[in-house]
Amino acid sequence: MTTVMSRNSLTEARAQGRTALDEASGKALLAQYGIAVPTTVVLKRTDDVDAALKGLSFPVVAKVVSSEILHKSDAGGVTVNLRSADEVRDAISSMAALPRIAAARVDGWLIEEMAPAGQEMVIGGLRDPDFGPLVMVGLGGIFVEVLGDVSFRICPITRLDAEEMIDELKGAAVLDGARGRPAVSREAIVDVLLKVGGENGLLMQHADDIREADINPLIVSAGGAVAVDARFILDGGADGHYMTAAHTTDFTPLFEPKTVAVIGASTKGTALPNIFIRRIREFGYEGAIYPIHPSAAEIDGLTAYKSLADTPEPIDYAYIAIAAAQIPPLLAGANGRLKFAQVISSGFGEVEEGRGLQDALVLAAAEGGARLIGPNCLGLYTPRGKITFTEIGPREVGTVGVISQSGGLGTDIIRRGLSRGLKFSGLVTVGNCADVTPSDLLEFYFADAATRVIGMYIETARDGRRLFDILRQAGACKPVVVLKGGRTSQGIAAAASHTGSLAGDDRVWVALSRQTGCILVDTLDQFIDTLLVFQTLKPRPEHPTQRVALFGNGGGTSVLATDFYARLGLDVTPFDPHAIAELAALGLPPGTSITNPVDCPVGTLQQEEGRVAQKILDIIHGSGKPDALVMHLNLSAFVGRTRPEVLDNLVQAAMRVQEHYPGQAHFVLVLRSDGDPPLERRKREFRDHAVELGVPVYDEMSNAGYALAALQGYERFVRKRTNLGSKRTEGNPRFPSVTSPPSV
Ligand code: ADP
Ligand code: MG
Repeated sequence: MTTVMSRNSLTEARAQGRTALDEASGKALLAQYGIAVPTTVVLKRTDDVDAALKGLSFPVVAKVVSSEILHKSDAGGVTVNLRSADEVRDAISSMAALPRIAAARVDGWLIEEMAPAGQEMVIGGLRDPDFGPLVMVGLGGIFVEVLGDVSFRICPITRLDAEEMIDELKGAAVLDGARGRPAVSREAIVDVLLKVGGENGLLMQHADDIREADINPLIVSAGGAVAVDARFILDGGADGHYMTAAHTTDFTPLFEPKTVAVIGASTKGTALPNIFIRRIREFGYEGAIYPIHPSAAEIDGLTAYKSLADTPEPIDYAYIAIAAAQIPPLLAGANGRLKFAQVISSGFGEVEEGRGLQDALVLAAAEGGARLIGPNCLGLYTPRGKITFTEIGPREVGTVGVISQSGGLGTDIIRRGLSRGLKFSGLVTVGNCADVTPSDLLEFYFADAATRVIGMYIETARDGRRLFDILRQAGACKPVVVLKGGRTSQGIAAAASHTGSLAGDDRVWVALSRQTGCILVDTLDQFIDTLLVFQTLKPRPEHPTQRVALFGNGGGTSVLATDFYARLGLDVTPFDPHAIAELAALGLPPGTSITNPVDCPVGTLQQEEGRVAQKILDIIHGSGKPDALVMHLNLSAFVGRTRPEVLDNLVQAAMRVQEHYPGQAHFVLVLRSDGDPPLERRKREFRDHAVELGVPVYDEMSNAGYALAALQGYERFVRKRTNLGSKRTEGNPRFPSVTSPPSV
C-alpha cells in the first residue's frame, strides 16, 4: 500500500521522464494547490484491502490504475458506492476479470472516499503555443461532450473572469437548481478555477511542464467542490515562443519620417518604388528621399546612393521592394543609420522555401540596427508623416489607428473606410511580422495622442501572450476592434498559406475579447462600421447603451430592426405612456406608429421644412429618454429626393434637437437608398457632411445595430471593470463580442 501525498509530484514525474501524471499523483498536485480531493489510497496488491480501508470512511470507490487505460469507466474500471471491505474485494476481482482490464498492465487499484453528490463539472487547462496557459470550464456529461458548452480564458484569470466564465455557459442555470435539483456552490467553482488558472495557480506556476490538464469531474455540491479525477499531460520541451521578449521602440520616426530611402526604384521610372516616390510627393511629403541603386546616379530626378550607409543623413524609413535574396546584405550594411525598414517583397516565411531567408532577414536588420516591418506587406499610410502606399487619401490626421496583417485588406480598409467617413491616425501593413508585430504597434497606438480607436486585422499572433498583456494593462482605455482571420478550420487553411504560420484557435480570441474588452468582428464591413461608431460617438460607460429609439420612414424596416436589435441585446421597447401621449397630441396622420419604433409617412417628415420631425425628435429625447436614437430615412421614398434641402432640413432638425439634450442619446443616422446613381451621389455628400458633424452614418439598420451593440459591449466592459456600476448587473454574457448574429 502506498499513500500518495508526495510533496512535489510534478518535479518527480518529470525527473523520471514521465509524460503524464497518474491519477493519484495528479490529485496530490491538486491538493498542494488547496483543491479538495477525496482521501485516496493506492493498493499494489489486493490482499492489502483491510489495511487500506482503515483511513477511509464508507462508501468508497474502487478504480483501476493503469497507464494503458485512459478512460477507466469505458473499460469498466470504476465501481462506486462500495460499503464494506468485502464489496471492495468483490468489485476489484470483477473489474480485473473484464476483458479490457485483463488485457492491460494493471499497476494497482485506487480506493477513495465518495464525494458528496452534486453537479459534475469539468475544469481543464491547455497550453496554447501563442498565448500560453488557458483554463477552461464546462458542465460535465453531455454539456461538454455533445454540446461543447465550455468557456475558455487566458491565464492568469481574475475572480471576475472566473465568474464570467461560469455565467457564459449555456447550461449555467443548472447550477442554480433547475427542475427541482438543489443549487450548487458557484463560489466553490470560482475558487477551484482560481487555484488552477489564477495568478499563483497551478497552470501559471507550471506553465513549462503542463501541456494539458483535466479535472473531470469536479463534483460540486452546495457545500463545496471535490476533484475526483485528475489527469495531467506533461512535456518539458515547451517551445515557449509565447514568452517573446518585448522590444520597446519609439515608432514616432516611422509615423513621421524626416528622411525616406527607396530601394528598388528603376531608372525607367516604372517599378513599384517609383510609384511610391510619386505618391508620397503628391501626398505632400517634403523630407529627403534617397533612392538606393547599385549603379544609377539619379532616379526620378533624385540623387541616388549606392547603399544605406552612403546617404547624406541617417534614414528614418526605408521602403524596400527588390528580390528577396538581395535584401539581407543590404540591411546588414545599414551601419546603424536606418531606423525602420519596411520590406514589401515576398518570398520569405509565407512560403516553405523562404523560411531560412526570413531568419536571415531578421538577423540582418538587427545587425544593421533597424526594426523590420514585413516582409510580404504593402506599406504604410500615415497622414501625419505624409507617407502613403496607396492612392492619395485625405491629408488630415484622423483618430483611427490600424494595423493590418494583410496588405490588400489594408488597402480596402483605407479606401472603403475613407468613403465611409473614417479618418486615420495611421495604418501599417505588417505582413509576415518577422520582427515588428501587431502588439508592438498596438502599444504605440495606445500611447499615441492622435489615436482614439484602434483597429487590427490579425491572422496570427505569435506573441499572443504579449498581446494579451498589453491589452489587459491598457484596461480598455481606447476601444480596440479586432478582425481576426482564420477563426475556423477552413479559414486557418487559408491563413496558413497566406502568412506562413498557423492561426490560433478561435476560443482563445473569444477569451481575449472577454478578458480585455477588445471587440471581435467577423467581416470588413463590421470592422469599418464599428470603427466609425467609435470615431464619432463618445462611449458612456457610466450609462451603457440599452434602450434604442427608432424613428424614420418605413414600417417594415422598423419592425425588422426591432427584432434584429433585440437579438443583439438592444431594447427597442415602447416609450412610457407620457411620451406616447405627447406624440399622440401632435395629431400625426393615420398609419403613423408612435410607440417606438416611431414611423412616419415620408410626407409628414418633409412637412414644414422638417419642423414636424423636429417636434417628434424633441419628444423622443425629452420624454422617451432613449440611450441611442437611430434615425432612418429611406431616401428613395422622398419627394424631390435628390434635392439637397430635402435631407438638410431633416438632419439639421435632428442636430438642433441633439444640442438641447447634450450627452443624452447616441445619435445614429441610417440612409437607405435603392442604388440609383444620382441618389447615391447625394447620399455620399450627405454622409460626409453628417460624419463631419459627428454623426455616424450607416447603409442599413443592421449595420447600425452591430455598431451600437459593439458600443454597448465596450461601455459595459469599462463600466464593469472600473466599478462604475454595481457588480453583475448586466445579464448578457455575450459582450463584448459582436461576432455572428444569432441565426437569422
Ligand atoms: P474515468 O477515467 O472514466 O473518467 P473517473 O475517475 O472520472 O473515471 O470516474 C468515473 C465516474 O465515477 C466519475 O465521472 C464520477 O461520476 C464517478 N466517481 C469517480 N470517483 C468518484 C468519487 N470519489 N466520488 C463520487 N463519484 C466518483
Ligand atoms: Mg474522469
